[in-house]
Amino acid sequence: MPMPGLAGGRHGAEELRPLVETVYTALADGARDRGGAMPAGGPEGVAARLAQAVGDVLPRGGTGEREALYTLTHALAEGSADPAEPLCAAHLHCPPLALAAAADLAASALNPSMDSWDQAPAASELEARLTTALAALVFPDLPAPDALVTTGGTESNQLALLLARERAAGGPRVQTVCGANAHHSVLRAAWLLGLPSPVVLDTPAGVLDPAVLDAALDELPSRALIVATAGTTDAGAIDPLPEVAKVAARHRAELHVDAAYGGPLLFSRREAAKLDGLQSAVSVTLDLHKLGWQPVAAGLLAVPDGTALRPLDHRADYLNAQDDTDAGMPDLLGRSLRTTRRPDILKIAVTLRALGRDGMAALVDAVCDLAAVLAAKVDQHPRLTLYGPPAISTVLFRPAGATDEDVAELRRRLMYEGRAVLGRARAGGRLWLKATLLNPRLRPEDLDALLALAAGPPHTTGTTEGSTAS
Ligand SMILES: *Cc1c(COP(=O)(O)O)cnc(C)c1O
Repeated sequence: MPMPGLAGGRHGAEELRPLVETVYTALADGARDRGGAMPAGGPEGVAARLAQAVGDVLPRGGTGEREALYTLTHALAEGSADPAEPLCAAHLHCPPLALAAAADLAASALNPSMDSWDQAPAASELEARLTTALAALVFPDLPAPDALVTTGGTESNQLALLLARERAAGGPRVQTVCGANAHHSVLRAAWLLGLPSPVVLDTPAGVLDPAVLDAALDELPSRALIVATAGTTDAGAIDPLPEVAKVAARHRAELHVDAAYGGPLLFSRREAAKLDGLQSAVSVTLDLHKLGWQPVAAGLLAVPDGTALRPLDHRADYLNAQDDTDAGMPDLLGRSLRTTRRPDILKIAVTLRALGRDGMAALVDAVCDLAAVLAAKVDQHPRLTLYGPPAISTVLFRPAGATDEDVAELRRRLMYEGRAVLGRARAGGRLWLKATLLNPRLRPEDLDALLALAAGPPHTTGTTEGSTAS
């Protein structure tokens, strides 16, 4: 077998070109062979088809570049839950822009590693410039905001709790206080960092109640970190940030805002006011692999002043020797708890340059509009019940009169038949189907098709109005 080609260097592009052609073909064939939101057959059917297509995953002799690339890419595409398909709308799992995926190919080919300047000279400079600019979007009135690039909301929330723990070093331990609507990663972060288990406040209305928060803080002897959510994972609800910030100030508590989902509303002139109050936070989690149309991973943690990140400073002689730093070489090790790190900033920078803030705003507005349309259609539908008006782009609904078991069963059936991928969310004591709309290219007909699947055929004896499968 010939020596495999390298992706970088002067000849890298010529090595890549035919392989990328193979990838295009495999992606197109795979999407065609899948024919919808998700492969039919459920876990068993998918496992059987994958075993059939792939066979021995660790063969003694290789099958060659083109065969392996085609076979596995095709198998993955054919077996994907593809968020670019109109009826795949379960999670905060976005259809990435082709542009961002293309930029990610370049990142892979060049493979800068963001742990030392001598592995990523321009990439680290690009990251420094863009993280500063994105932090300024969150904290526009401050002189030196900064942001770290993370693998996503989970890592950002972990870092936020870590920084809070370190700010409190030497005093009483930080007590995290969050709503029952907070992301599970907040609980895990406290556990991982050896902090007391978070105080979890009931959120029957889906969002933190400032009066309940106020009362809970009255009871707390120790220093508190409030975690508010701007865009809950289940319903896309936004905690009342200005009121929460006031309560935090009254108790001298710190506020971290998990805006993993809602953060990119900041791009939109129309939607940004939903995040008023964000500026009071000591740290803000944002994910651009949700409402930012980036391939995974594209997380950020923004802080109002870069000095807040000092606790992450760390030395390793082979990466940031003191004399190198003294001589002016950028020190990257304090920009993450990871060491080797992908240049996720490239795809983000390419996207923001190509679209501009206005282009991002148009995408954000488009999915918010789609959610409003879907909610209105559900509300008018004779056989569906709407949970409530969407705050961002998530719509919860259920067949009228269904039990929770019916809802869970319907979701699994639509998935296993490969017809639609919807999420599930518990709210107001009941189980709902969840449509998380992140595809700005959906058409009204797609929404009708989704509702027709959820509602089922009209009852023959029932009302004659209502939607039919289109
Ligand atoms: C998705 C999400 C997270 C976790 O982010 P990952 O990128 O999946 O690690 C955290 N918080 C909220 C509110 C989220 O929606």
